[in-house]
Amino acid sequence: MKTFVYIDHFKGEIQPASWEAIGLGKSLGSVSAMVFGSGVDAITKAAFEHGADEVFAADDAALTDFRVEPYAATLSALASSQSPDLILFPTTARTRELAAMSAVDLSTGVLTDISALEADGDQLMATRPIYEGKVLEKTICTGKPVMATIRGRAFPKPEPDASKTGTATKVEVKADALTTVEGYSASESAVNLGDAGVIVSGGRGVSNNPSLQPPAGMDEKQAEIWRAQQGFALITDLANVLGGAVGASRAAVDGGYIPYSHQVGQTGKVVTPDLYIACGISGAIQHLVGMRNAKLVVAINKDSDAPIFKQARYGVVGDLFQIVPALTEAFKKKLGK
Ligand SMILES: Cc1cc2nc3c(=O)[nH]c(=O)nc-3n(C[C@H](O)[C@H](O)[C@H](O)COP(=O)(O)OP(=O)(O)OC[C@H]3O[C@@H](n4cnc5c(N)ncnc54)[C@H](O)[C@@H]3O)c2cc1C
Repeated sequence: MKTFVYIDHFKGEIQPASWEAIGLGKSLGSVSAMVFGSGVDAITKAAFEHGADEVFAADDAALTDFRVEPYAATLSALASSQSPDLILFPTTARTRELAAMSAVDLSTGVLTDISALEADGDQLMATRPIYEGKVLEKTICTGKPVMATIRGRAFPKPEPDASKTGTATKVEVKADALTTVEGYSASESAVNLGDAGVIVSGGRGVSNNPSLQPPAGMDEKQAEIWRAQQGFALITDLANVLGGAVGASRAAVDGGYIPYSHQVGQTGKVVTPDLYIACGISGAIQHLVGMRNAKLVVAINKDSDAPIFKQARYGVVGDLFQIVPALTEAFKKKLGK
């Protein structure tokens, strides 16, 4: 099977699921990586190191910032001339748009957010979670090439091998675009919960430490947010020691404790870390659907009847303001940090 893999990157940071897509492609046959952007030599090198047999590089100033029109036109022209059987993308906001637009050009369809892919003769059967992850749907794409975006951390990541090198084939760039990018705000790139192996999340409970005295002059709401920020500082310390990311419940986001980009759940992000530590989160169904596929869940909550404990392998009934710093110190010692 001839598979093309789109390597998604933003400001030099490569989406790790791009490598997982290469690993998946290699399990089915040969892999050609597609690297688009401006000054992409380092990304091309990394693609070879992660197992690409061939790299198609579209390297042009017109592709400095992601805009779907030139990226999709370039990808569609390349796919039309090379006729791959399968095109894989890591699932990101950019690739959902890119894959959809290219699929229209190529008269095919896109299977989004797949978590498994099996070859049965010439047919490819994809699995993807639907209905908030309650049902796994098996689906095929009858168009050619089959296009699919893969769920982050659902497939094994190949180990890079620095001895693997190659020369990229240059691709003609279709530079026409009606849009220009004026800039980015920091928050758009700050949190990457989808790729995190460890997530420490905080809920409404992070604001519940009446013994903390806020600075004078704050009204009640300001004091609540100030307390929550002290709580999230403890959560961030623990996440940092474990090399993880900080998540949050919707109550914490709605309360103004932390930006929306951290929200886990039905209306936030769906995450699949190896370890999820829920601090001061009750475990409402809308939160659980975002994290129940974590390999190991630990819950810290004052209320022994909190539903989160049903989801957790390990539970600590207690005040997060005591437990979280104690855990951070214990991990620091254990990990020699
Ligand atoms: C359509 C819809 C979509 C939604 N989408 C989402 C979503 O994407 N994500 C999401 O999270 N929610 C979502 N919600 C909201 C959800 O229903 C819950 O309201 C929310 O998850 C509750 O957040 P919480 O657990 O932080 O707060 P609470 O339910 O108030 O729980 C706080 C917990 O903290 C504990 N606690 C308090 N103080 C301490 C302390 N000092 N130490 C330890 N524990 C303490 C309490 O015992 C309690 O269990 C959605 C709701 C709707 C209707």
